Amino acid sequence: GCIIRQALGWHSGWQVSMQRIGIIGGMSWESTQLYYRLINERVRAVKGGLSSAPLLVHSLDFAPVAAMQAAGDWDGLTALMVNAGLDLKAAGARSLAIATNTMHMMAEQVTERTGLPLIHIADATAACVRDMGLIRVALLATRFTMEQAFYRDRLMAAGLSVLVPDEDDRVEIHRVIYEELCRGIVRDDSRATYTRIMAGLRDRGAQGVILGCTEITLLVRPSDTDLPLFDTTAIHAAAIADQAMAG
Ligand code: GLU
Repeated sequence: GCIIRQALGWHSGWQVSMQRIGIIGGMSWESTQLYYRLINERVRAVKGGLSSAPLLVHSLDFAPVAAMQAAGDWDGLTALMVNAGLDLKAAGARSLAIATNTMHMMAEQVTERTGLPLIHIADATAACVRDMGLIRVALLATRFTMEQAFYRDRLMAAGLSVLVPDEDDRVEIHRVIYEELCRGIVRDDSRATYTRIMAGLRDRGAQGVILGCTEITLLVRPSDTDLPLFDTTAIHAAAIADQAMAG
């Protein structure tokens, strides 16, 4: 079921020691800092007192990562992600999370090479969509995530049908992510663009919208659309917190 809704179903009387989770982040740090806060807020809400999540955050330099993405150097990025996962394993991580939707392109390789369980952002998100009884969802994300198969296939395998914007709109959504949101710039005109695009997707039959890039939550608010929003940053952070608390 949806991880967000399960929030306070935890019984905190009996304290199990928490599991140390390794997070591959910094892509961008604007969203990694949200993960850090959201994970710890959930642990505090559930366990109370001074409890906080045992985390290892491997925060990469996003400039070379984004340059390799733009150049299509997926082999180089795979090596980078696998090495980050191995570093976290060596530091004692027992599970891993990749704090970006786009870099889930390498999810399988990271899992295979590290041998650690991966808390997958699309699986947690699909469970939330299904939990609300929805099937047909729009996906707003980087061009890589909207256009390549790795992410949509994962949602479709969970029984969802996925709508993406047309090409001009995909280009603009992608530009706003890299030129604005990942640099901490939040603009009203860009929010208006996203609002217009979401309205078009609703008219095409979308029942909800997946904010499938971890920075979009900095821009789009629930009041910007009459469709339910699935904030992958919040959903993934909740899944990570729950994995930590599962011990
Ligand atoms: N954080 C974004 C995402 O969730 C984009 C940055 C990246 O390319 O990793 O896809």
